[in-house]
Amino acid sequence: MSTQELQFIGGVRRPGSGEPLSITAPATGEVIASGASASIADAEAAVAAARTAFPIWSGMTPGERSDIMHRWAQLLRERADELAAVESRNAGKPIRLATDFDVPGTIDNTAFFAGAARNLEGKASGEYSADHTSSIRREPLGVIGSISPWNYPLQMAAWKILPAVAAGNTIVLKPSELTPLTSLLFAEIATEAGVPAGVINVLTGVGPVAGQALVEHREVAMVSFTGSTVVGRQVAATAAGSVKRVHLELGGKAPFVVFDDADLEAAARGAVAGSLINVGQDCTAATRAYVQRPLFDEFVSRVAELMDQVTLGPVDDPETDMGPLISLAHRDKVIGMVERARDYGAKIVRGGRIPEHTARGGSYFEPTLITGVAQDSEIVQNEVFGPVLVVLPFDTDDEAIALANDTAYGLAASAWSTNVYRTQRAGREIQAGCVWINDHIPIISEMPHGGYKASGFGKDMSTYSFDEYTNVKHVMSDITGAAHKSWHDVIFTAE
Ligand code: NDP
Repeated sequence: MSTQELQFIGGVRRPGSGEPLSITAPATGEVIASGASASIADAEAAVAAARTAFPIWSGMTPGERSDIMHRWAQLLRERADELAAVESRNAGKPIRLATDFDVPGTIDNTAFFAGAARNLEGKASGEYSADHTSSIRREPLGVIGSISPWNYPLQMAAWKILPAVAAGNTIVLKPSELTPLTSLLFAEIATEAGVPAGVINVLTGVGPVAGQALVEHREVAMVSFTGSTVVGRQVAATAAGSVKRVHLELGGKAPFVVFDDADLEAAARGAVAGSLINVGQDCTAATRAYVQRPLFDEFVSRVAELMDQVTLGPVDDPETDMGPLISLAHRDKVIGMVERARDYGAKIVRGGRIPEHTARGGSYFEPTLITGVAQDSEIVQNEVFGPVLVVLPFDTDDEAIALANDTAYGLAASAWSTNVYRTQRAGREIQAGCVWINDHIPIISEMPHGGYKASGFGKDMSTYSFDEYTNVKHVMSDITGAAHKSWHDVIFTAE
């Protein structure tokens, strides 16, 4: 256990001045860092540092910002093992996942936004009126307040910070207080690469104090939030008080639609990987598999067989496939949902229990496969955010699309078929920010990520994210030099 300065404000690590905070390893329950959380005063200091840095950073050329961000990407590459080890321990991720997914994804995002920083786009300047030249300026907003969750701490920090700073903004990020360690490292490495002090600040603290302070702050131009739909609603309501721009990346309940002409082995493997990645604590995880009746029994038994092969264990063991849930409290929530489904007649085909051999202080839960539930049941409609896949049958294509769209959420979905017309229809008609065809989960820096419906609005990653983090300004210049403009005649005709 070590006492640490858990705030990063104005380019340096500092202690907070809020309540004491202990950060634990989900796999063992051991305290791995402790210190003081961010108070409202710390939030004020961070916003002040970001305001001071804004003219410096936004005043640089895109090329200058890009060079610094390329150096940042390089330093991240050099420290990849350290980042993976810290992420694995703090978030309870198997080291293989942190090493092969979280860290390379973050490095690629950083390299992508280093390039994208030079590629802000707008309409061509021109004479859209015969008497004027119009041009577009795409300007940074100022200080961004960002709030991120605990499931992919490093990637979520990257998704929030990178488009904001690539567009010339400065930022104060409040990560989940459960998992701040890689967000702090990410910001420190940026400073080492040459990002000026105050451009990126990290407040380790709790949502209702440090998070709320950012959302309410009059000098924060925009709030970018990733987390649950419940808290997202509160954030949007609070932000309305100061008329802030809001970007919400919220929960998900991704459908996984398997038509009767699908490659069954590919679909079964996809369902296991897509539902168990990060112990199912993934907003795009496959949660509801709808399988056309002729394939239903075979699909369920193959998924069950494959789930039996998933190894739970210590997160630092490269052989471990699945680690613990983020906390004991979160595991209790997952158990509660599975037990309520059981009470309502669900068949728990696999799992549904705490595994005995991994229960030593860690918050482990078995891969769980459920059938026999109704479409309107809690386990089908609400986010579990755990290693739980429910499978339901369907008969017709129309029914499959309707069932896929029948939750409040709309973040991601997949459709499995060898018929191009079916897959095209699924891509068109499923209401979600991403529809995968014959796969589920992959993301890439060049393409946007964001929701429909209660999954929020606005895009992370890709150059589409610049629409969130910039203002588009129209500059319209008279090119006639005349005192009497032709349009004045609609108001007055005096000589
Ligand atoms: P929460 O909504 O509970 O928390 C998210 C963040 O909001 C945390 O940093 C939290 O701080 C903060 N917060 C809580 N209350 C307030 C408040 N009143 N004002 C400002 N900030 C506040 O989500 P979880 O951390 O539990 O993360 C899981 C959720 O995130 C899931 O619903 C998941 O689907 C969603 N998610 C969505 C993604 C997407 O891209 N759409 C990606 C990843 C996750 P604290 O931790 O201190 O409470």
